[in-house]
Amino acid sequence: MDFYSTNNPDLRVGFKEAVFNSMPQDKGLYMPVTIPQLPANFIDNLDEYTLSEIAFHVASALLEDAIPADDLKAIINDAINFYAPVVKLGDNVYVLELFHGPSLAFKDFGARFMSRVMGYFLKDGEKVLDVLVATSGDTGGAVALGFLGVPNTRITILYPKGKVSPIQEQQLTTNGQNIRAIEIDGTFDDCQALVKQAFGDAELNEKFRLTSANSINIARLIPQTFYYFNAYAQLLREGKSKVVFAVPSGNFGNIGAGLLAWKMGLPVEHFIAATNANDTVPQFLKSGKYEPKPSVQTLSNAMDVGNPSNWVRIMDMFKDDLKGLNQQITGYSYTDAETETTIKQVFDKYNYVVCPHTAIAWKALTDWQADNTNDEVAGVFLSTAHPCKFPDVFTPEIADAIEVPASVKDLEGKPKQTVVLPNDFDAFKSYLIKNG
Ligand SMILES: *Cc1c(COP(=O)(O)O)cnc(C)c1O
Repeated sequence: MDFYSTNNPDLRVGFKEAVFNSMPQDKGLYMPVTIPQLPANFIDNLDEYTLSEIAFHVASALLEDAIPADDLKAIINDAINFYAPVVKLGDNVYVLELFHGPSLAFKDFGARFMSRVMGYFLKDGEKVLDVLVATSGDTGGAVALGFLGVPNTRITILYPKGKVSPIQEQQLTTNGQNIRAIEIDGTFDDCQALVKQAFGDAELNEKFRLTSANSINIARLIPQTFYYFNAYAQLLREGKSKVVFAVPSGNFGNIGAGLLAWKMGLPVEHFIAATNANDTVPQFLKSGKYEPKPSVQTLSNAMDVGNPSNWVRIMDMFKDDLKGLNQQITGYSYTDAETETTIKQVFDKYNYVVCPHTAIAWKALTDWQADNTNDEVAGVFLSTAHPCKFPDVFTPEIADAIEVPASVKDLEGKPKQTVVLPNDFDAFKSYLIKNG
């Protein structure tokens, strides 16, 4: 399968090139030249397949011969070595738990698959791949734990000092091996600016083989389709064959993958795009005007995105047809006050703790179901992170009910390994060169 740029359908590259480029030169995003249709006998019998079998079928359809079957199977089994269960909370209310990977967030699907694909394509003796990432918390953990021990790679993570949660910091800073963490005395935006400047620096590019691991990489999008098919498989086992998905959205990679799964033949009745106050997309769906804004800070900070980078992929899939879009997607946005109330409502109703991102998805699902009553349609909201990653947002009663996974307890004794740097490009550059 070749991949084209959303800015220029004639610009085509193979999968390996799309992965290492991350973004085409023309600043579009890569999309598969044709969206493959999965056979009806696969879709109708999804309940007979395991997650890793589903992943293999879906990935082979998208990649064709870019990676030989046995190698692709090995990559999938190594990357997706955790569950994505659909848990029933109430009548037609299910939660798809995507937080059972090592960093306790759904970004593990994308980061682990991408890291292994990159590791696979890197040949022995080639220059080490230097991955630079800026994180506000969740991406860094997924990328660090995803690339940990992957040969021929070195990961440098920049995070804002004092602005990530304790568990997030432990996930970033206790790895060693091929992972280095740098605390920047500044904000997430400062970290991102430093990384951007590094990518544009001639001397650094000469010396290192730099790449980014951010969410626009096609190798992060593809594995996120797997859990939509796998969720449907689980619903079939419950006797449900109609589904709507409510997706807490920031950069719109997650819901973009769901829409790709739908385009490949997964029968999804509807998608619900749930955002916090960063409501560029819900506003666009209402008004037809796309007006990106600077991001505002919220409790669900992994969704604080004012100009979602994956939105162009969604527009591309719908060929800019706003009517078609509105038939398949409804947008909702909520304030922090509503998020806090929702966390409490979900806890009172189901004795279940949701992280602030997930809360927004449940609320949107509930509001959508109030307007679209249909006993046949199962509502599934995606839980994108384990609540223990965001301890500050919960009341003591709810915080007490959170079961902290064993993997988090294991992190506690491990020493923190970081370098503190000022928010200054020269300092960052000379660190990279000195430690090259
Ligand atoms: C990254 C993230 C999101 C947003 O996902 P997108 O694919 O960027 O829309 C939502 N919730 C959590 C917990 C995240 O880490």
